[in-house]
This record gives sequence, C-alpha cells and structure tokens, in this order.
Amino acid sequence: KTETVDVVVVGAGAAGMLCAAEAGRRGRSVLVVDHARAPGEKIRISGGGRCNFTNTGTTVANMLGENPRFAASALGRFTVADFVGRVDRAGIAWHEKTLGQLFCDDSAKQIVRMLTDAMRAAGVTLRLGTGVAAVAREGDGFALTLSDGTAVRCASLVVATGGKSIPKMGATGWGYDLARQFDLRVTETRPALVPLTFEAGLLEQTTPLAGVAVDAVVTAGKTRFEEAMLFTHRGLSGPAILQISSYWREGEAITVSMAPGVRVLERLKAAKAENGGKQAVHTALGHIVPRRLAEVLTAREGANGKLAEVGDKVLARLDAAVNGWTVKPVGSEGYRTAEVTLGGVATDQLDQSTMAAKSVPSLYFIGEVVDITGWLGGYNFQWAWSSGWVAGQAA
Ligand code: FAD
Repeated sequence: KTETVDVVVVGAGAAGMLCAAEAGRRGRSVLVVDHARAPGEKIRISGGGRCNFTNTGTTVANMLGENPRFAASALGRFTVADFVGRVDRAGIAWHEKTLGQLFCDDSAKQIVRMLTDAMRAAGVTLRLGTGVAAVAREGDGFALTLSDGTAVRCASLVVATGGKSIPKMGATGWGYDLARQFDLRVTETRPALVPLTFEAGLLEQTTPLAGVAVDAVVTAGKTRFEEAMLFTHRGLSGPAILQISSYWREGEAITVSMAPGVRVLERLKAAKAENGGKQAVHTALGHIVPRRLAEVLTAREGANGKLAEVGDKVLARLDAAVNGWTVKPVGSEGYRTAEVTLGGVATDQLDQSTMAAKSVPSLYFIGEVVDITGWLGGYNFQWAWSSGWVAGQAA
C-alpha cells in the first residue's frame, strides 16, 4: 500500500520539527520520519541539558561556510526574537548566561516538548525508528521507500538529517548522499566545535595540567576568541578551543594567552622587588594564573626557588609561556565529540529564501546538513530554526 502526503521531512531534530510544524500549520499533510527512538535527541543533551537555544547577537558574522551570507535571508525572516517569542508563549523560563547565549532555566526537554506539541497541533505525523531506504523522483515529487517497506509519495521532500557529529546518537551522512544522488554539490565536511589533541611528547608536559581551566585568548591565523580554556588528558578543550577548532587546520599552530591583558613580566619584577624577593616564583606566578599551572611552568623553566634567585630572563620566559604560548595540535577528537559538522550541501545549490535545491525545486535542505555552521553559543540552533521556518513556508 502506498501512502500519499504533501511533505515528508527526514529528521526530527531542531530544523525538521520546526519546519514540519510550519508546513502543517499551512494546511499541508506532513510526515516526519526519524530512525532514532526519540525526537530532538541533540536538543535534549545540548547546552549541558539546558539547551543554549539561540544567541541574541546572531548574524552571518557568526557563521562559517563557503558563503556565510547565504544565511542572512533565513535569519532575517525568522529571527532570534521570533524564536524567543515562541519560548515565552510556551511558558519556558530562560536566562542569558553570557555573550548573548540564552538557556532554559530548567531543562532542554522543554524545547523538545514545545516542538513536538507544535507538530501535534499542526496535525503532523511523526514516525520514529524509521529511516528511508530509497528515494526516486516521480513527476514533480518523490517516491520513497521507508525502512519498514512502506511506500510513500510526496510533493515535497525536506532533508533535515543534521551533521555527522556524535554517530552514537544516530548521526549519518545520509543527507549528503541524497544531495549527491540529485547531483547537488557537497562541500568537504569536517568535525568542528571539537577539542584539539596533542602528540605524546607535548602531552607529557600538559597532562599534569588536566582539569586546569583559565580564561584565555586563543588565536589561529587572523581569528581570535576570548573565552574559557581547559587542559584535558588529550590536549585542550573549553569554549575558546571549541571555537578556534572551526578555523584551525592540520599543521597549523595556535597561540594561547592564559592571562590576557596582564603584564606578567612587570608583575613578577614588582613582586621580586618586594621583601627582598623572598617569595617563591611559583607563588608569585600563582597570583596571575591557576596555582597548578604556575607550578608546572616554573618547574619547566627551572625556576623552583625564590624570585631573588632567578634572573629577569627567566621571568621573561615565564611571561612568554603564559601569554605567548604557541602550540601545534596534531588533530581533534573527531566526530565522536564534535558538536557540529563544518561543510555540507553547498549553498550555491540552494535558494536562500526557501532552502529548495535550485535544480530540484521540491527538494529542501535545512539545518546542519547545509554548508552553514555557527560558532559555539546558540548560533547553530538559530540557524536550524530559521532555515527550518523558511522551508516550512515553502514546502
Ligand atoms: P539534528 O538536531 O542533529 O537532527 C537530525 C535528526 O535526523 C536526528 O534526529 C537524527 O536521528 C535524524 N537522522 C539522521 N540521519 C537519519 C537518517 N538516515 N534517517 C532518518 N533520520 C535520520 N547548538 C546550539 O546552538 N546550542 C547548544 O547548546 C548546542 N549544544 C550542543 C551539544 C552537543 C553535545 C552537540 C552534539 C551539539 C550541540 N549543538 C548546539 C549543535 C546543535 O545540536 C545542532 O547544530 C542542531 O541540532 C542541528 O539541527 P538539525 O535539525 O540540523 O540536526
């Protein structure tokens, strides 16, 4: 038996659910399929369980891709205020944490519920535990075979399968493969918003610091982020590193300042001039950076004694170690822990006002599967909402 619907959305994630609810509200019959057991699993685990659902400062300047300006149309049509309005109407309490990042006060599950409620109110059918086995063009629409063998005909097909990150949660490359099946160009994909790793020799130096966090400025090429940074057993993590990972490429060094704006050498010289320089070097440095970091750096520079016992050259080396640390990561932790995937369906293949493929007008791509990737801080969900909304008006 063949089912016939107006719209099939593949992927009940952030973009797919918002899109489906919009299309349903316009009176379209909508079927959403997802091979996962529950909808919106990435929303549920996002933002440490509180979902950083948008960023008040979202612009194309916070987006990466071949052409980040492509995102301007959707971001301008379904704005941050539009999404916050929905959150408010759903009675979900939220707060701004930092840097324009909006989080739920209670739980990310509230956002998932808001979206599933919107789909239900719009008469959308959600079929979980179901993938798509085959897609064929049929007239201006599509003939689908679902993984359970069901045949479905639809006028519009929306691909909202997200990126490749966290395969354990059901991420697949299906959306990219489908794009290629219809001769749409897909840009190179790579893990982003991901911890960076060090080779064994470097790890020997930094492993004693695992767990130490500092406010840092991290620079790769011309790009610079000032946020928290964390030493791990494998290298570096924390918001500043996740941000820079989207820009860093293999073989490049990053520069780290672990006491941004602090004149470390001057501070150490001043401490040396006090009380005859009796203070231990690591104690003086420990007033500038975390104690464990101060201990490791002073030991490395052989400055284990009192300030009076070390020359200014050594103090200058400590200054450089704190505020001019240049280090070459070997790689990243990969899709296993990456929050997002850079790259995807090339934006020049899509119509920015509908998200439809230019060469296949009833085939839509929304959310992370598209070559638009946001910074850390709520930008990726805003892209999912905005791109989902515009497709929901057109599909
Ligand atoms: P997804 O939400 O990933 O949804 C894709 C859906 O498609 C999934 O339900 C999946 O099961 C389904 N699917 C995949 N392949 C198939 C297939 N072949 N057949 C059927 N179904 C399929 N972004 C923020 O803005 N703020 C945050 O706080 C934040 N925190 C994050 C924390 C973590 C740990 C991770 C991993 C990501 C986080 N992100 C955050 C990024 C954000 O989750 C994604 O950018 C966003 O979910 C993308 O939305 P999407 O709808 O495109 O894809």
